Amino acid sequence: MRSNNLCNQGVCVVLHDVAPATWDMYRDFVRDVDEIGQVPLTLLVVPNYHHQGQFSGFPDFCQAMERRQSRGDELVLHGYYHQDDLPLPWLFPKDIFMRRVFTHEGEFYPLTESMARERLERGLEQFDRLGWPVAGFVAPAWLMGYGARKALAGMPLRYTSDPGGLLLLPHFEKIQAPTLVWSSGSAWRRRVSRYWNEHRRQQHRESPLLRLGLHPVDMHHPDAMQYWLETLEKLLESRMPVTKSNWLELS
Ligand SMILES: [Zn+2]
Repeated sequence: MRSNNLCNQGVCVVLHDVAPATWDMYRDFVRDVDEIGQVPLTLLVVPNYHHQGQFSGFPDFCQAMERRQSRGDELVLHGYYHQDDLPLPWLFPKDIFMRRVFTHEGEFYPLTESMARERLERGLEQFDRLGWPVAGFVAPAWLMGYGARKALAGMPLRYTSDPGGLLLLPHFEKIQAPTLVWSSGSAWRRRVSRYWNEHRRQQHRESPLLRLGLHPVDMHHPDAMQYWLETLEKLLESRMPVTKSNWLELS
């Protein structure tokens, strides 16, 4: 790793959907990143992933998260269930598309303000109980409805994010930070992902902060894993590795 602390560009490695059920999938990738050097990760942790139980009930997972925090990783609140479990009310085509075609995981898209507040509070309580600091929230699939945005503005959090950048709370002021992300579900999607992400990496080479957004499904595919590791090493030649909160502290 040839990064130096004086460079004014950053790269943020963000692992999505971190939970007891998924953490093991990231094991090899995290080990390989640790071997590159001191690269702090931003871990998007789901409090009760797909209703499989609160993470605080999984001691091995909690110990793993504590070890990661002591290495400098940042934990971020990522939804509550990570599942859009509300019924579709009336048939608005846009809602059907967003909630059933685009994704089934957009938990915070249909919530009212009070429902969103309740889930945010329950999520933050779990972190609090374990003494884990949280400064950020990321909505599953980056989807937030009006109710979620209103609720989020009243939370003791510093930022949220969307695909284009970090949004400072409570006013959602944007700090540009483009994201590279793969769609790893099929071979043709992975081929397109490689091409598309390389294009975006070039397009945003002057951007102060670039984010790499990884998902558990990427870890099943050697081509995706290899892309992420090679891309990270390339970026570290000119960019400083940071968590999202590190970057806000530096800005
Ligand atoms: Zn997610």
